[in-house]
Amino acid sequence: MTSVKLLYVETFGCQMNVSDSEKIVALLGKVGYHPTQDSSRADLIILNTCSVRDKPEQKVYSTLGKFKRLKNSNRRLLLAVGGCVAQQEGERLLKKVPYLDIVFGTHNLHLLPEMVRQAEDGKRLAEVGFIDGEARLDLFPVEDSTGGVSRFVTIMQGCDNFCSYCIVPYVRGREISRRSAEIVQEIGDLAAKGVKEVTLLGQNVNSYGLKSAGEPDFAGLLRQVAEIPGIERIRFTTSHPKDISPPLIACFAELEKLCGHAHLPAQSGSDAVLAKMNRGYSRKDYLNKVAALKAIRPGIQITGDMIVGFPGESEADFRDTLSLMEEVGFADLFSFKYSVRPGTGAAGYPDDVDGGVKQERLNRLQELQLKMTLETNKGFVGTVQEVLVEGVNRRGDQLFGRTCGNRAVNFAGDPALTGSSTKVMITRAFRNSLFGEVCESGGGIDVS
Ligand code: SAM
Ligand code: SF4
Repeated sequence: MTSVKLLYVETFGCQMNVSDSEKIVALLGKVGYHPTQDSSRADLIILNTCSVRDKPEQKVYSTLGKFKRLKNSNRRLLLAVGGCVAQQEGERLLKKVPYLDIVFGTHNLHLLPEMVRQAEDGKRLAEVGFIDGEARLDLFPVEDSTGGVSRFVTIMQGCDNFCSYCIVPYVRGREISRRSAEIVQEIGDLAAKGVKEVTLLGQNVNSYGLKSAGEPDFAGLLRQVAEIPGIERIRFTTSHPKDISPPLIACFAELEKLCGHAHLPAQSGSDAVLAKMNRGYSRKDYLNKVAALKAIRPGIQITGDMIVGFPGESEADFRDTLSLMEEVGFADLFSFKYSVRPGTGAAGYPDDVDGGVKQERLNRLQELQLKMTLETNKGFVGTVQEVLVEGVNRRGDQLFGRTCGNRAVNFAGDPALTGSSTKVMITRAFRNSLFGEVCESGGGIDVS
């Protein structure tokens, strides 16, 4: 009798990696590996890594150090590194980390079962070749359709934008759009399993289909997804502001299922910095697009990403970022200190904003954002929101769900409400979430 082999996957970074990890678990499940949450019991440990900033990259090395002890106590344990750090380092990683067995790149997930088989025979392997053209279309992660209420669906991979600070085009390869028929099929299958909400995922979903003959553009894809029975809500991430097109903006007026939320990373509010970042839009362009979205979908929630301390960023540039934040009124913001990424365009600029200044700017930015987020959330108190219930919250004492505008809501209720759209009166607001009560009367809904 063969014993069950256990697989522990640790995922770093973005949702893209979370989707890839789901695919890894599904692929290795077919060759006898069962997932475990307990790394000390695992026969195979996989780190699915991120190198978009220095900090997550360094975390990969410290995590590897932690697993060295397990390797020492269990010589049959296999250790693998995939994702962006693996892509960036390739075979070098095997040399740097002598106890590592497998390195696999962002286009090589499908090779894992065979690589694991060879590693079980004692080989150490690295596979980081990019795959281009039609062959790559077969490599998209397919969700394992285990259901749930809300799921991410990858619609494109890679990126051609080459923002000067960003490593993604180098570690994820050229942009490629998945076939629309497959996307629609997958979402139909998810809907049949009870999924109510899908988030279409890509580095820049706005350019979906533009380089693929015979495929719709992103607005066209959204219209197709909106036709799928059972799907009640559609979201997407991430959008590049330069590619928010008039047909896409029109979708916010015409498609009821499209949620009133746009994640629109600005990165900076200074024209000089935006140009140096190679973002392809000015502050004014950005604000015009936000204004168009707000006009067509009143109450739409705008969130974004911002970088502080990009090379050459002056105090005046940084103040432009703060004033852009106030003009937009971001509901939420991910903010980062700039870190040099090897091989990118900006790596050629001196990293000349002092570390202390970067930290101080990040603190000021985050303080402003916390204030704005709290104000946004307080604005919902006394309104009735339609909440798609995702289940019981982490503390296990209340139900948890999201408004159409993506605000998290906790409220007391029957777990049987999971999967339903429930009207909730918002009674209290905090920085990270709203609290409310189920509306017995079923009164009208306030926008977003
Ligand atoms: N494709 C998305 C876009 O265009 O906005 C974002 C992708 S990136 C994985 C996520 C975020 O990481 C970026 O929006 C940016 O704010 C941040 N980021 C990327 N490179 C960075 C760097 N070198 N230093 C600091 N933050 C960085
Ligand atoms: Fe990176 Fe820019 Fe592509 Fe986003 S659009 S992944 S920030 S290069």
